[in-house]
Amino acid sequence: MEQYDVLVVGGGAVGFFAAINTAERNPGLSVAILERGTSVLNKVKVSGGGRCNVTHAEFIPNELASFYPRGQKELKGPFHSFMTGDTMAWFESRGVPLKIEDDGRVFPVSNSSQTIIDCFLKQSQKYDIKLKKNHAVRSIGQKGDSWAVKTTKEVFSCKKLMMATGSNPKIWQMLQSLGHNISPAVPSLFTFDIDDPRLKDILGVVAKDVAVEVMGTSLHSEGPLLITH
Ligand SMILES: Cc1cc2nc3c(=O)[nH]c(=O)nc-3n(C[C@H](O)[C@H](O)[C@H](O)COP(=O)(O)OP(=O)(O)OC[C@H]3O[C@@H](n4cnc5c(N)ncnc54)[C@H](O)[C@@H]3O)c2cc1C
Repeated sequence: MEQYDVLVVGGGAVGFFAAINTAERNPGLSVAILERGTSVLNKVKVSGGGRCNVTHAEFIPNELASFYPRGQKELKGPFHSFMTGDTMAWFESRGVPLKIEDDGRVFPVSNSSQTIIDCFLKQSQKYDIKLKKNHAVRSIGQKGDSWAVKTTKEVFSCKKLMMATGSNPKIWQMLQSLGHNISPAVPSLFTFDIDDPRLKDILGVVAKDVAVEVMGTSLHSEGPLLITH
């Protein structure tokens, strides 16, 4: 059975950021990321239309928190200890120059989300964070003062366990059965995959005031529209 000090479940932005900071601040701890997919950081790749909108140039904690309708109260504390300036410094000091656009959005100067992915991968290698792909976590349980984590392939043991699986209802159920409270999830930002050849010629089009609806349902929305690959 492989043993680690810290296991992070989920190889997305949150999992990588947590694993890297844990390893950097605690030299000597063994850290691994368990990822169910064949690749990591897939959502970062598509984020910000492929450019990755890293943060927003709002530097006052309470103001930034007000952009999160459901987490305003909870985020005030964390934002007072790690804010936009810290995020920007984190990336810039690790070789990712950033720029602030006129509307306040912050992107890598490269205009490519791959730059962010490369930074995360390089940092995880620097701190010898083990990356275990194709390991979908199926169950977690406590054994004395450590955790037993069963994946589709193997059982791991760790002293500290961090769950960073994004929106995976099965994992939420697991956490609930361990006694955690789970707030009901609501849809936020997601993509529609539309199989319509007419869209192929208008990739990259942005339109300001658009109304869209999903035919045959009552789902509709108004706002800016982005058409990507
Ligand atoms: C189209 C789009 C554009 C976006 N643009 C931006 C943007 O520009 N800026 C921004 O800040 N945010 C953006 N977001 C939001 C941002 O992408 C997400 O908030 C962020 O990626 C979430 O990271 P995460 O690590 O929590 O989750 P995820 O990226 O979903 O990562 C979770 C990982 O856990 C893995 N996993 C799940 N279950 C298991 C399991 N049982 N065992 C092992 N592994 C498991 C998944 O395979 C996945 O790799 C965008 C989102 C979308 C959809």
